Amino acid sequence: PCWPDRTAMFESDSGPGQRFSEPPANLLVGDEVIVVVDDDEMIRKPLKAYLEKHGLAVFEASSAAEFNQLLNSCNVALVLLDIGLPDKDGLVVLSESISRFPDLAVVMLTGIDDLQVAMECIRKGADDFLSKPVHFQEILFIIRKVLEKRRLIFANRKYQADLENAYFRIQLLHQLTLKMNTAYLSTVELDEILRAILVGITAEEGLRLNRAFLLMFDEKGEVLQGRMAIGSTCREEAGHVWAEMREKQLDFFDIVKNIKASCDSRDIEVNRIVKAINIPVADREHVLIRSALDRISVNVVNGQASVMVAPELIRLLGEDTFVVVPLYSPGRSLGVIIADNFVTRQPISANLVSTLELFASQASLAIEHSRLYVHLQKQIGELEDLTLELDKNKDLLVEAERYSALGQMAAQLVHAIRNPITTIGGAARMLSKKVTDETWLKFLHMMVKETARVESTLEDLFDFVKQVDFEKERTALYPLIRKTLMLVQPRMVKQRITWKLDLPEPERVFDMDARQIRQMLLHLVKNAVEAMPDGGNLAIAYTEENGWGLITITDTGMGMAEDSMERAKDPFFTTKTYGTGLGLTMVERIVAAHGGQFSLHTREGGGMEAIVRLPL
Ligand code: ADP
Ligand code: MG
Repeated sequence: PCWPDRTAMFESDSGPGQRFSEPPANLLVGDEVIVVVDDDEMIRKPLKAYLEKHGLAVFEASSAAEFNQLLNSCNVALVLLDIGLPDKDGLVVLSESISRFPDLAVVMLTGIDDLQVAMECIRKGADDFLSKPVHFQEILFIIRKVLEKRRLIFANRKYQADLENAYFRIQLLHQLTLKMNTAYLSTVELDEILRAILVGITAEEGLRLNRAFLLMFDEKGEVLQGRMAIGSTCREEAGHVWAEMREKQLDFFDIVKNIKASCDSRDIEVNRIVKAINIPVADREHVLIRSALDRISVNVVNGQASVMVAPELIRLLGEDTFVVVPLYSPGRSLGVIIADNFVTRQPISANLVSTLELFASQASLAIEHSRLYVHLQKQIGELEDLTLELDKNKDLLVEAERYSALGQMAAQLVHAIRNPITTIGGAARMLSKKVTDETWLKFLHMMVKETARVESTLEDLFDFVKQVDFEKERTALYPLIRKTLMLVQPRMVKQRITWKLDLPEPERVFDMDARQIRQMLLHLVKNAVEAMPDGGNLAIAYTEENGWGLITITDTGMGMAEDSMERAKDPFFTTKTYGTGLGLTMVERIVAAHGGQFSLHTREGGGMEAIVRLPL
């Protein structure tokens, strides 16, 4: 009933159909077939023969049920569907098949003048219709047109996807460049960038490779070592970076950071593999070393490549088809990236390799950038150290110069004043023995006292200026302390100062210059006494702590203000009318010469505590 005009259908193609006589150019691809669905064998058979003659693969079905079977078992590209089938309405068959196979092309065969039905077919998704009676050549023309359109849709879809992917790659590379240009690449940031590159290589919208491994030469360039990898688990995670980026308006690097956490814990296998790769640069023939040093990409297919591929590498990767691309900067070979399709086993095209090289060059740039940055950091650090050292030395120098100037001045002073003062003092003492007049005697005593004071100041100055050679001997400490105390005893009594010694037995012996140590003790005790003009307590104690012998001298005197504390040890710093300000300077010098330490502290409740530490 579908093909009323048989003669017309058997017309051979000639005339307008002639232009299609050449073999169809890829209208059907692979195992794609056309199905003719009609219950009339007398139509199906010759039509099949006719279409096959024109290079099209054709199956036939006499019912909706048979057609359904074919749909399930073959790759049907187009169906020529009669609207009047014995077992089902053609329109229903049309809707059902299209909803199951959206890419199926359908050409309906409708009744003679039934335009209404024809339009209904188009509305339901048919690509075209033919009203009976139909000529074979007309059928062929329509089939070709519909198949061509179908191919165009496919091609378009592919271009669309390619375009999306290309756009993604450009975006990714752009973001990488931005990141590299705006941030100094520390090691952490470098890792981030490298991971982003691996994500780009494996992501669905990226190069879609299944696994990617990154290897770098060590600092000395002697060993090629695995650094990081992305495998199937991560790949799924990273699968739709692009979609996520657009949907959530996330920064690419935020996504990469998220991915990193799950990658490290879950992509254990690839990370195990990459960490196991460790190839000395001396292994010149190794495919990875060759790729890195010769700066060539190597495509390994079924274990074969332009260079020898070590079986251990294939064993380790568990894969004999992969690509190796080099990482390098103009001056250095940096490493390699290995990528494969471990899961899908899809071959890696030359095109893909060159895109991979693009990603590799970004990685190289990042590595070089970071290397330079780290280098720079190191140099800056060295420079800072140097500046610091210089500053310190400068201070020392200034101090030394100042001291030596002061020292010279003091030496001259001592020299110029000492003799006359001693003469004046001696004369006054002599006169005081001859004179009986009370008033004169009072003046003479004053002269004796004051010259003695000047002499003592000169003594201090002299000690300070004098270059002393320390003569160290095994010397008992306690006698030195006792003798020192004896010197100031009359004065303490006069000022109503009580004292206490706490020197635990047995006697302690140190390697020291007794004269200098006595002088040091005297300076400290004198300071304590001078700080207690209206009485108080002085205590000297000896203790031991962590390999040090501690001499602690405490007083309950006036104490010191914060700013005086800082300058107390400076030469010539004094708060006293007749002070020289050299006492603590000498203490510091003597203690240091004995390998010890000296410190001054204010005591809670008033007074000071001076601590001298001598090494045991
Ligand atoms: P001088 O005793 O000649 O002043 P020093 O170098 O011995 O010089 O001491 C410097 C300054 O430190 C003193 O002038 C004094 O102000 C302060 N000082 C030192 N020891 C004490 C102390 N035990 N109590 C209070 N002030 C002190
Ligand atoms: Mg003093």
